[in-house]
Amino acid sequence: MSTGASPSETVSSLRSAFDGGITKPYAWRLKALKALRLLLIERTAEIEAALVADLRKNPAEAQLTEIGFVIAELDYTIANLRRWLRPKRVRTPLLIAPSSAHTVKEPLGVVLVIAPWNYPVQLLLVPVIGALAAGNAVVAKPSELAPATSAVFARLFARYLDNRAVRVVEGGVPETTALLAERFDHIFYTGNARVGRIVLEAAAKNLTPVTLELGGKSPAYIDDTVDLDAVAHRLAWGKFMNAGQTCVAPDYVLTTAAIARRLEPLLTTVIREFYGTDPAQSDSYGRIVNDAQFERLTGLLADLPDGQRIVTGGDSDAHTRYIAPTVLSGVGRDSPVMAAEIFGPLLPIVTADSLADAIAFINEGEKPLALYAFTNSKRARRALLTRTSSGAVSFNVPAAHLLVADLPFGGVGQSGMGSYHGERSVAVFSHEKAVLSKILKPDTFNLVYPPFTQKKDAF
Ligand code: NAD
Repeated sequence: MSTGASPSETVSSLRSAFDGGITKPYAWRLKALKALRLLLIERTAEIEAALVADLRKNPAEAQLTEIGFVIAELDYTIANLRRWLRPKRVRTPLLIAPSSAHTVKEPLGVVLVIAPWNYPVQLLLVPVIGALAAGNAVVAKPSELAPATSAVFARLFARYLDNRAVRVVEGGVPETTALLAERFDHIFYTGNARVGRIVLEAAAKNLTPVTLELGGKSPAYIDDTVDLDAVAHRLAWGKFMNAGQTCVAPDYVLTTAAIARRLEPLLTTVIREFYGTDPAQSDSYGRIVNDAQFERLTGLLADLPDGQRIVTGGDSDAHTRYIAPTVLSGVGRDSPVMAAEIFGPLLPIVTADSLADAIAFINEGEKPLALYAFTNSKRARRALLTRTSSGAVSFNVPAAHLLVADLPFGGVGQSGMGSYHGERSVAVFSHEKAVLSKILKPDTFNLVYPPFTQKKDAF
């Protein structure tokens, strides 16, 4: 729902609210977080329907990864916020004794949250929770590519939250470009790296700090120390949830040819177990968000390079934007599916002869958002942990690290900058201000004053 206000009117009215001190009291923050919680509880049905319309997301999956996920983050924040906001004492050096020092968190001001379409609830609201908990005024910009969810939040934010300080601005590229021309005190962007650069450039003009939550090709390394049937279940869950449109989905499998041969039939069986013989009929399986993404993904299946074969899946329906959960084997390292993040339900299996070969291959690419390793070998775990760089490493389970609120969630290098979740979300949207206090009299500081006599030089 558009208020009809221009971006500059919106930002300046939020700034007046912030400058007026509305958002700073703990009570206001708590009330805002509780209002958001109430919105999610009372309007679950509307939000679930929007997710079905945008992505055919199953309500049970939506609870785990969207609505319930956000409620858990809210509950954790509400329970701990007072403690997180407490001033933190630090030690002072002898030279300035007696004195005391501490840090306090102050809100940054007016912040902008730009969200993508793939988890349009979680990736809009979890940053907003941090921004509100830290006492900021917020502009939330949902993705125009999840229009039903965007409209629901535009309508419900207006009803449930204090609109003097919290607004949804809907729209696509022109609207976001106009917003980015405004001066914010922090910009929190989730999406692809191309737009990440646009956001960073716009922010640079005002020296606005940014958080960029981007993507990349997250590998799933598998060795022969693990039960492959269990691995197939975990992999298929992480990959085919939301039809593969998950930033932390395992992008591809990296394993030996012998393990690949054993894994392939197991993945076929698990996919049937999860989604039936015809996944197009399954309520548990999502759809591709739009025609452009559908064409990009089916393009990857149209001309398979020599040696690459479909183990299972491969069929699609343009009308409903359905692409079957698909496993590809014999995938060369220079195959088109390996050129960029897949972001869809295609799981290529790439072979690596050894752990060293796998590590070398991972290190040839950009730093991934997550590295998954299915191994019980201590040596392999240590090697992967210390010889590769990624936003996160998770052993024997994909994507679940997001559920740990005390783990920072974010990328490194091309997969992003900055991290959030839990207490860290409050830190992202706060300035940690240094405070020092020293008594004036008696003047215990006179040792440092000029003139610099020999006695002072010795000091
Ligand atoms: P998207 O197309 O919805 O874009 C994200 C946001 O950027 C939207 O709000 C959109 O309006 C805005 N935008 C698009 N073009 C713009 C432009 N030219 N100028 C200004 N703003 C613009 O989503 P997407 O980028 O397709 O999302 C998918 C990507 O996001 C994948 O690479 C995925 O890995 C990544 N991702 C990362 C995370 C994470 O938490 N790290 C989560 C989800 C998705």
